[in-house]
Amino acid sequence: MNRLYRYLLILLLTVVSIGCSPTPTVHKQELYVFGTLVSISAYTTNKQGFEQAVDAVDASFQRMHRDWHGWKGEGELVQLNRAIATGEGRRVDPFLLPLIEQAKLFSEQSLGLFNPAIGHLISLWGFHRDEPPSGAPPTRQEIGRLLQDAPAMGDLLISGNRVSSRNRRVNIDLGAFAKGYALQLAIKQLAGHGITHTIVNAGGDLCVAGSRGDRPWRIGIRHPQGRGVIASMEAADGECVLTSGNYERYREYQQVRYAHIIDPRSGYPVEHVASATVVAKNGALADAAATALSVAGPLQWLEVSQNMGLKQVMLVDERGRIYLTPEMRERVAFQEKPDEIIIGVGVK
Ligand code: ADP
Ligand code: MG
Repeated sequence: MNRLYRYLLILLLTVVSIGCSPTPTVHKQELYVFGTLVSISAYTTNKQGFEQAVDAVDASFQRMHRDWHGWKGEGELVQLNRAIATGEGRRVDPFLLPLIEQAKLFSEQSLGLFNPAIGHLISLWGFHRDEPPSGAPPTRQEIGRLLQDAPAMGDLLISGNRVSSRNRRVNIDLGAFAKGYALQLAIKQLAGHGITHTIVNAGGDLCVAGSRGDRPWRIGIRHPQGRGVIASMEAADGECVLTSGNYERYREYQQVRYAHIIDPRSGYPVEHVASATVVAKNGALADAAATALSVAGPLQWLEVSQNMGLKQVMLVDERGRIYLTPEMRERVAFQEKPDEIIIGVGVK
């Protein structure tokens, strides 16, 4: 073969190999964190890069689990709670501090219905352990005593990275919004590794980035009775979809179910809402809001949505009635036609 032919052949092979670079497909990895299976999907050509990115996210999730847990282990939040109980202040690690600051803000915006300062109440109901207890619920007196202490995020004083509390009975439990915060952080971390088309899904709570090629990611909203998916929708770049549900965790005594979402005003578990779903670009806000709206219920959900600046909200009550904001109605497709849909207007 003369030299010219050899060059042409090399050129041809190069062109062919570039032309054959793999087309992107969906890759999926699963992690077990926060007691849930977290599945991460990415639309990419770079399978290896994706796997490395997921390893990095896994390491962050482990750190979150350690430092954001309010009652297990010896992480940052456990130590802060201990300092608060003894009336001392504490310097808080920058990995935890923004959560405390945001929890304070969201608690205020939710009119106190999202109240992560009620850790002692949540513990009294038996939800500060991996398996909820089966015995009789706490007595009215026990609940009343904790309500009298009136723990609130507003009791916290934050000065630089130092946190103290005016009220020693504050016990911070970030269980209602740390997942939303974590999901969004994972999206950011994946982007840092070049994974920009992805969906991070923790048991139906999720955040998305980019798209699945030329179409948006399509996601499902969990059914309140745990029967798969109640509705599906397309999720746009940067959106998070968070659902709080009574069905998630509960204790049962004499055929009565006591849910793990507590109304901070009465000290009793929420009864009237089966689930609340919020779509927003801020995962932590969406999670805090989903919990607050579960407490707010059909009478107050619009007021709380408005106060928290939410536009896309869905509530399902204990009888299966569905409450939607007009913006949310436009987006969801129900699996089965619901018996009753109530559109809540007034959300600006
Ligand atoms: P899920 O875990 O089903 O997504 P949430 O996001 O609503 O549900 O979080 C529920 C958890 O939040 C409870 O297990 C408890 O630790 C905590 N919690 C319960 N009631 C409240 C409340 N009113 N405000 C803040 N946190 C709460
Ligand atoms: Mg929540």
